[in-house]
Amino acid sequence: MIPYGKQNISQEDINAVIEVLQSDWLTQGPKIPAFEQAVASYCNSNNAVAVSSATAALHIACLALNVGKGDIVWTTPITFVASANCALYCQATIDFVDIDKDSGIMSIEALTVKLEEAALNNRLPKVVIPVHLAGQSCDMQAIKALSVQYKFRIIEDASHAIGGQYKNNPIGSCQFSDIAVFSFHPVKIMTSAEGGMALTNDAELAEKMQLLRSHGITSDQNKMTEHSHGPWYYQQIDLGFNYRMTDIQAALGLSQLEKVDEFVKKRNQLAQQYDLAFEQTNITPLKQNSQCYSAYHLYVIQLHEQNSAKHKTFIEQLRANKIFTQVHYIPVHFQPYYQELGFKLGDFPAAETYYQRALSLPLYPGLTESEQQYVIDKVKSLL
Ligand SMILES: *Cc1c(COP(=O)(O)O)cnc(C)c1O
Repeated sequence: MIPYGKQNISQEDINAVIEVLQSDWLTQGPKIPAFEQAVASYCNSNNAVAVSSATAALHIACLALNVGKGDIVWTTPITFVASANCALYCQATIDFVDIDKDSGIMSIEALTVKLEEAALNNRLPKVVIPVHLAGQSCDMQAIKALSVQYKFRIIEDASHAIGGQYKNNPIGSCQFSDIAVFSFHPVKIMTSAEGGMALTNDAELAEKMQLLRSHGITSDQNKMTEHSHGPWYYQQIDLGFNYRMTDIQAALGLSQLEKVDEFVKKRNQLAQQYDLAFEQTNITPLKQNSQCYSAYHLYVIQLHEQNSAKHKTFIEQLRANKIFTQVHYIPVHFQPYYQELGFKLGDFPAAETYYQRALSLPLYPGLTESEQQYVIDKVKSLL
């Protein structure tokens, strides 16, 4: 079986984990700040906060930006549900901005039109969460310009995108955003088993997220309401969670980070092979922006014909040939929970068309040349 994605674990990764197991700290020890500093420095960002998942990072990122009841948050319908759920965790209202049909990412045109309408109706979003689908950055400079005009904050859901670049800057540098979030789930670019990180250039936001990841508890005298009762003393000054990453995970993440450039380079090479093989066929890969270096978390192709029955058969036939492709994603507003909130079929036409045409082919650093050739041959013959 050839899956669509897979982690890549080396002996050094295993040794790094064993070393932590034999140390004094299993959680919130020295590996956490070491991992945070390493990722922040890799991404050219001032602060990084390690947490238990990207889902947790998105939640506390929203809270740090004071998202709450009565606020509106926008994201894209073509994403994992977590990008939208974070707003609902905060009792905010969620809405979506349709995608660009060729690249799959948030359409700047759709965002502009929706902002103009929202301004007239007094329904402007407090936060917009662009998602770097498949590892390609959204047009952050354009989104930033709109955020200045319409006064919203920006959280990049960069779960797919560590190792990628936008206008020659690492994704995660937060040049055009308030916070950027990575996922270290095994299927992503690099892994800490479960894990996530929030990056920001704003020290205050970083402090707030540090507090929220661990119950809202502080041991910092400067933040307390009264003098410390003694060396045991701490205060809970906000309502936080247990969203901590363990040292075991951070050690794995640190070890994986050393290979992230190599991983992304290999993913780009494999993607190029696919691109070449599918020229002059009835499928088109996601359109790439020349200003971006994609981390290529996914290799998404779109069938030319919009025919959900053929799309389904194609995916089933690939599975029968032991090629496990996947559809990224079912539009979030199709989910029953979101339909209950009032979203309907037809709300985001580009996303809905995309859903009937897109699939992700196998792409991971360990995919061999002969496996890739097998995938290419099967895809071509099934077309
Ligand atoms: C994987 C993913 C998440 C959630 O990541 P976890 O670390 O599993 O919580 C959020 N957003 C997107 C776009 C993802 O792909």
